[in-house]
Amino acid sequence: MARPREPQTTHLRNNSDMDQETFPPHVLIFPLPLQGPVNSMFKLAELLCLSGLHVTFLVTDHIHTRLLKYSNIQSRFDGYPGFHLETISDGLLENHPRSGAQLMEMFDSLKTKTKILLKDLLTSGKLNSDSRRPVTCIISDGSMGYTCDVANDVGLPIIYVRTISACCLWVFFCLPKLIESGELPFAGNDLDTPIKSIPGMEGFFRRRDLPMFCRSGSLSDPNLNLYLPEITENSRAHGLILNTFDDLEGPILAQIRAFCPNLYTIGPLHSHLKFKLVGQSSSSPPSSNSLWKEDMSCITWLDSQPPKSVLYVSFGSLAVMTKDQYMEFWHGLVNSGSRFLWVIRPDSVTSVPTEIPLELSKGTEERGYLVGWAPQEEVLAHRAVGGFLTHSGWNSTLESVIEGVPMICWPYFLDQQVNSRFVGEVWKLGLDMKDTCDRVIVEKTVRELMEDRKDEFRKSADEMAKFAKQCLMEGGSSYCNLERLIKDIKAM
Ligand code: UDP
Repeated sequence: MARPREPQTTHLRNNSDMDQETFPPHVLIFPLPLQGPVNSMFKLAELLCLSGLHVTFLVTDHIHTRLLKYSNIQSRFDGYPGFHLETISDGLLENHPRSGAQLMEMFDSLKTKTKILLKDLLTSGKLNSDSRRPVTCIISDGSMGYTCDVANDVGLPIIYVRTISACCLWVFFCLPKLIESGELPFAGNDLDTPIKSIPGMEGFFRRRDLPMFCRSGSLSDPNLNLYLPEITENSRAHGLILNTFDDLEGPILAQIRAFCPNLYTIGPLHSHLKFKLVGQSSSSPPSSNSLWKEDMSCITWLDSQPPKSVLYVSFGSLAVMTKDQYMEFWHGLVNSGSRFLWVIRPDSVTSVPTEIPLELSKGTEERGYLVGWAPQEEVLAHRAVGGFLTHSGWNSTLESVIEGVPMICWPYFLDQQVNSRFVGEVWKLGLDMKDTCDRVIVEKTVRELMEDRKDEFRKSADEMAKFAKQCLMEGGSSYCNLERLIKDIKAM
């Protein structure tokens, strides 16, 4: 693994009287404390370390405990003397679920309690030492606007990062316009009404494809109010980093640039890192930033399956299913006749049925494999995987795109309703099955993706994967934007 040498000054200096200015710039990265953002921000941290910058990575105590238990961050970052892991409280009790319906409580607590702690941390001197400068720049999630207030208070430049898709960010930017035009709020169940006031999405975007909270029918919905100020919020920072690439979201990025001209599109981040680590190939074993224990036995199971025969099924780290939805999926998967590898996260079903019908256990034994958490990047890169039934989380979507794996989308919340529409209607990388998981529809959709239309979807997925890889190569858009980001951080 090609690790860059630490600049020599770092090793020579252990005297606090020496000129701190000669040390590399020191970036504080503060991700949203959730699996997806933590995962992609670790990739960014490693990319910055590879370019010789010093990085302090700030995680909540809750995330820290789980990372130490289940990921390989400690051994991995031992190779980077400029990397430092720091913790902060999210202000919640340890047994708080921090998912599903209670996610908003975490946002509130971060804003009220963690904000003060962040300012204390930055002014305490705790983050600098004899071998590192004080923090010179903050990179934090743009959905935590209070980090910008703190940065302004302590006089530090801040760059925002968003780990959602650009297409969803653009929908957030247009929320005030949707309200002005009377398209929001809407009442009733007609979800197929076209949405007209989102520039660039006319003609294919429906009420159904708006983020889930738009269906509440009320302007006082707390989620709506959280995302309403996005346009002003995102333009406060020095720049905006997006985990996407120009060939995927070009037209939407052009719209966002009108409000945030300094965009750094440097994704897909997980592959960007792999490319930097092993040159021009994405085949190195992925690093793990998992908050659950990865069950590696599924790779052995995949090894014994025919090429492109397996549907990988996973709904990410936050989505929760009812017992009925779980049973509908299970029947649909078994009835489809396809082989499947299904991730059932321990807390992902509200109540697990105690009695399993015989046809399900028999069908699963013959063609299926169930795990609690999978090494997803490795799974999607496996030759046996031919499709992905996903909740359309942005990390999962990008991980599927770069491996050329067609998708069936069953979005849960936030950006997922938007992403799934783009997967099905704009990028033609699969089928959008939002709002239903009736067993008959699951069976039909799986057959369509894995059998009837497999050639058509594989062709478009292969083409998009090629574009994704090209943008990471020297001279490609994401490659150049990362270079520019590093140059800008060094100039700060
Ligand atoms: N993931 C994983 N193993 C699993 C399921 C998910 O490693 O069994 C990872 C996946 O690779 C992705 C992240 O968890 O990087 C989920 O992020 P995403 O944005 O897709 O969805 P979220 O969990 O935020 O809803």
